[in-house]
Amino acid sequence: MTTITATKRIIFCDFDGTITVSDNILAVMKHFNPPGWEDLVQQLMDKKLSIRETVGSMFSLLPTAQKEEIINYSISNAVIREGFAEFVDYCREQDITLLVTSGGIDFFIYPLLAPFPIPQEHIYCNSSSFEGSTIEILWPHSCDEHCDNNCGMCKTTIIRSYSPEDYHRIIIGDSVTDFAGAKLVETIFARSHLVDLCKELELPYYPFENFFEIIQRLEEMTPS
Ligand SMILES: [Mg+2]
Ligand SMILES: [Zn+2]
Repeated sequence: MTTITATKRIIFCDFDGTITVSDNILAVMKHFNPPGWEDLVQQLMDKKLSIRETVGSMFSLLPTAQKEEIINYSISNAVIREGFAEFVDYCREQDITLLVTSGGIDFFIYPLLAPFPIPQEHIYCNSSSFEGSTIEILWPHSCDEHCDNNCGMCKTTIIRSYSPEDYHRIIIGDSVTDFAGAKLVETIFARSHLVDLCKELELPYYPFENFFEIIQRLEEMTPS
């Protein structure tokens, strides 16, 4: 008897406000408070700036002379959401591909994820350069021709590279930056603003506040 292979599951998991309890970029800006950052956030809200323009401009307000303080603060301030370690283990046991798809920056994401067995090539985020007088953000995962949001790190570009014929695609996220991706996938786990956005568009979603709830739901979804 031949075994029918179940569709492979793949997870696209946001970082800031999802894997971590709060948003690390905003925490850095609030703490170091460079003049002008709040105005940039307002322009993003008013849709006058893209995410890429906003994040790039905000970090360009921070002097690289403060490199150590900025990196140390962003790492020490972050709190990993409950159940994440168990969730990473669960995905490995179940052969679910776990990709971290984040609009955050390498200098805090890699150290914060270092305790977890996630291969580096499964972590998608923006990079940074401390070569100049202020921090420069680099964008190794920009939007493809199907996305004109100027995301910086384009989640939909990554999601589109996995066909729904071969993959059951699952997104986990918390905010507006996950919304375009949520519209593409088969299953949505949402908290915070992403819940409101899903409700508005009547997209079905599973609410979550910790990763134990996600494990539970994935377990119920597992084809037997
Ligand atoms: Mg987020
Ligand atoms: Zn994009």
